[in-house]
Amino acid sequence: MTSNKKKKPSAKRKASRPKDPTSAISQEPSVEPTQKATDYYAALAEVGRRSQDLMLVIDGTGSVKYANPVTLETFGLSLEEGLGTSAFDYVHPDDLQRVISQFLKLLEMPRGSIRDVVRTIAANGETREIELVSTNALDSKAVAGIIVNGRDVTEHNQYVKQLQALEERFRLAFEDNMAPMIFTDLDDRVFAANDAFCTMIGFEREEILGRDSTLFTYPDDVGIAEDSLRRVARGEIVQSRYVKRYLRKDGRLIHVEVLRSPARDEDGNILYHVISERDITDERTLAAQLSHQALHDTLTGLANRALFHDRLEQAHSKMVREGTLCAVLLLDLDDFKGVNDSFGHLAGDQLLISVARRLEHVARSSDTLCRFGGDEFLYLAEGLTSAKDAEFAATRLLEALAEPFFLSGAQIQQRASIGVVVFDASASQTTEFVQDADVALYEAKREGKGRFVFFTPTMHQQAVNRFTLIQELRQALQAGDLSMHYQPIFELATTRIVGFESLMRWHHVTRGWVPPSVFIPAAEQSELIRELGYFALREVVATAASWDAVRPDAKDLYVTVNLSARQFHDPELVSVIEQILSENSFASERLVIEITESVTLLNVTETMIVMEQLSRLGISFALDDFGTGFSSLSYLALLQPKVIKIDQSFVSPSIERPRNKILLEAIISLGHKLNMTMLAEGIETATQLERLRQADCELGQGFLWSPGVPKDEITALLTRTSDQW
Ligand code: C2E
Ligand code: MG
Ligand code: MG
Repeated sequence: MTSNKKKKPSAKRKASRPKDPTSAISQEPSVEPTQKATDYYAALAEVGRRSQDLMLVIDGTGSVKYANPVTLETFGLSLEEGLGTSAFDYVHPDDLQRVISQFLKLLEMPRGSIRDVVRTIAANGETREIELVSTNALDSKAVAGIIVNGRDVTEHNQYVKQLQALEERFRLAFEDNMAPMIFTDLDDRVFAANDAFCTMIGFEREEILGRDSTLFTYPDDVGIAEDSLRRVARGEIVQSRYVKRYLRKDGRLIHVEVLRSPARDEDGNILYHVISERDITDERTLAAQLSHQALHDTLTGLANRALFHDRLEQAHSKMVREGTLCAVLLLDLDDFKGVNDSFGHLAGDQLLISVARRLEHVARSSDTLCRFGGDEFLYLAEGLTSAKDAEFAATRLLEALAEPFFLSGAQIQQRASIGVVVFDASASQTTEFVQDADVALYEAKREGKGRFVFFTPTMHQQAVNRFTLIQELRQALQAGDLSMHYQPIFELATTRIVGFESLMRWHHVTRGWVPPSVFIPAAEQSELIRELGYFALREVVATAASWDAVRPDAKDLYVTVNLSARQFHDPELVSVIEQILSENSFASERLVIEITESVTLLNVTETMIVMEQLSRLGISFALDDFGTGFSSLSYLALLQPKVIKIDQSFVSPSIERPRNKILLEAIISLGHKLNMTMLAEGIETATQLERLRQADCELGQGFLWSPGVPKDEITALLTRTSDQW
């Protein structure tokens, strides 16, 4: 057997190989051919054959004198090939230097042995790891060699290495994991914690090792971890996931999501707990912000409709349990549009915020205040014992706005109206409360604003009627069921017709004639009044323009059109009137617009501007229903109408009293002092006419002569002479 049998004999190996190897030993060893030696080799061969380990004997030069079957098999050699070769030929080049120096050291220590793990190379080039114990028995006559016992530990070492690598990976996964992790023992005491965990709770690792999580758990949540430990230990759940709060060392509260997984042995006994966590504080904050945004009004920060309805539902079910009352208060700012128009929308928003703060200030903590939209606020009052409580709530809200507000350097008074609905557990539909409150709010506005009105079921019917009326009125306008009637206006001294007042008429298919006192106020609450107003103006101007052909002096006849206060806030009013006049070639001086003092209610400044523009066109004004308003005299000076129409309650009073006579005379002489023409409405008797004449009233109209008539009857009226009346 020679070294050329080996597949990869390296030059280095050959160079470092000890020289002069002794001759090989055979299976039946010929060296030391004593009986004892023969016996020994026979015994050795026997043991070697049976052994699971590698066994070989080498001489002082490293030459193989004996190799057992396991050895030969390990290196892929036959006995012939193995014997006499240098044992160093089978050593991995990287280990060779060490092996040789150990061998030399062993040679110098009789009976000494050396243990080592050596990498070897088999005939087929395969590397294996062998754990060796080499014993110097050179001085033994029986052996005279080095006995090498070896065990192939290749697989075992690979396994150990894999385990170590795995352990390292786990260690890194734990140590460097971004997710905070701890390991706890059966009593839930921390025995390992990674950096992320320590950072999360702000404690040093040394401070937490050996402690349970109570140290950094928010006191109220201590039970949560204990409960999870108990349930996992009892086997009720395999893993447990829960959310709890930690109190960091710096005192900050954080929310964490915890996943507890127990590590078990083969029999299923828990060895320790692996707990991985996630700081969900930011998520929670964001979620809270988002839900706050979804449920609150961005301008004022108050609850929004969605939240209000939610609270309303809750209040309803609570009321069923507690047997108390609730109230919904719908508050609408009075004439808020004026603020937006005069100060701009930014200032309007500012005022809404100020109003919200004031209302918030007087709101009870158990109640809900919400911005319903625009200038409307909703207030839900809970746990009331009587309707009186709702009255207190409404009064509180109104009083909160009593003090003036300061806006862009100006001091303004912002009042509000409130519709109130009180309900008990028997109410089934919570959605209707707001609608009902809206109906009551309408009444509060109608009754003069700045007040609250309680909803009653009849109001509901009224609201339904109003709604139907508006629908029908809209259809009537399209179907041509609306027309204009004309009541002649006389010069009292001569009984000569000087003009006509136009009055709108609605002939309803089933109801017959619907009086304007019913449909005009309804239309005024909707946008429809605008269309009705333009219809009247077009119709009246066109009709009046046609009179010229009937009577030669008709060019002096004027015609009046009643305009609603709301129409003065229509930005197109002036241009539309101008257009109608020019389309009909109608002199603007012949058009008189009748207004009531209510025009000053919405926004005086705006109204005055519009009146000014119309006056410049040549149009004049008559102040209608004089004497029925609230502050007649001051507005007379402000509006400066050409004509004052004295309300019929002064002309045909139900009770004839000397006081009424004095009042009538006083009004007429006042008007004259202001250089205005006086017109008496509702003259029904000759006595009334006589008295008016004596009081120097210039003009009049009334059933004494004629009610309003359709346009085709006007010719008949115009052709009559004074003595025919
Ligand atoms: P008004 O402008 O004060 O009109 C006078 C009302 O008195 C008319 O009622 C007229 O028919 C009635 N009247 C006239 N002479 C007499 C009389 O001798 N005795 C009595 N008892 N009543 C008399 P009407 O037509 O029912 O109109 C009621 C109100 O409706 C009007 O009061 C006016 O404010 C409003 N209105 C009528 N037409 C229009 C319109 O086209 N536009 C607007 N915005 N309002 C209108
Ligand atoms: Mg009138
Ligand atoms: Mg009138």
